[in-house]
Amino acid sequence: MNYENERNIVLNACREMVKGNLTVGSWGNISIKCHDGNIAITPSGTNYEKSKPEDMVITDINGSVIEGKLAPSSERLMHYAIYKKRPDVNAIVHTHSVYSSVLSVTDDKIPPITEDTAMILGNGVNVSEYAITGTQELADKVVKGLDTNNATIMKNHGAVTVGSDMERAVIAAQVLEKSAHIFILAKLCGKVNVLPEKDVKELRNMSEGYLNQWKNWK
Ligand code: 13P
Ligand code: ZN
Repeated sequence: MNYENERNIVLNACREMVKGNLTVGSWGNISIKCHDGNIAITPSGTNYEKSKPEDMVITDINGSVIEGKLAPSSERLMHYAIYKKRPDVNAIVHTHSVYSSVLSVTDDKIPPITEDTAMILGNGVNVSEYAITGTQELADKVVKGLDTNNATIMKNHGAVTVGSDMERAVIAAQVLEKSAHIFILAKLCGKVNVLPEKDVKELRNMSEGYLNQWKNWK
């Protein structure tokens, strides 16, 4: 089976994550559901800027390696658990971005505060409960925290965003970090106005049409 396209998409997303300061070093991980249902996922503990497409590991959804020389991400159970629970999800981005991590430490849910937060992330972003990295317990807690939204903050760890394709999962990671930043600054200013529920629903409905012209990465 040829996974060249999926491997390139994952690696391009990694570069976007690094370029956007959404992680440092080898932390964070990214995966995509391939055309045949297998998963292309980042290798564990490697330098994204030096990685090549063939370094991306292909596994089945239960973790058996199909192709690849490197060990798959240590957080793979979380990726598999999300794909199993959310058939609408085809790409997952896990970051250790700074402002989302601040809220992961203060345990503060982000309410729908701006147009892009509501459009892309939904009705706020939950903080999922803590469990140690790489465990099935963490995977289950993240799935619960994510619920039907496109993002969750992982308590004392980082964040996860999802999308129907990689562009949407990466945009969600960028919008999440921007929303976390705005929310923290607004709290420091002493006042946080939240969007009315009916407007959040309307903005959510606009989101698909809005992103339709986004160019796919090849
Ligand atoms: P990997 O380098 O194994 O993907 O793990 C990094 C990480 O963020 C664990 O949560
Ligand atoms: Zn992590």
